[in-house]
Amino acid sequence: MIVYSVRCGNGHVFDEWFSNSTDYDVKASAGEVHCPDCGDSHISKAIMAPSIGKSSPAAPPPNCPVGGCGGGACSFANDF
Ligand SMILES: [Zn+2]
Repeated sequence: MIVYSVRCGNGHVFDEWFSNSTDYDVKASAGEVHCPDCGDSHISKAIMAPSIGKSSPAAPPPNCPVGGCGGGACSFANDF
């Protein structure tokens, strides 16, 4: 099984499981994948979300000596 982030024709992005990449092609072209938000079956693969931004802005990196810096703007966040 493989999960793809797919986007419908109206810009909604959602995750969908497929047996393999061929299964995606078959179901996508057959219109068997529907957006959970609007039901649109015109889907395409979305760019997988990058791993950045996983940590909450409210939680500074544990190795930040300042703390409360918000994480993203903290230069110590680059050590992650
Ligand atoms: Zn949609």
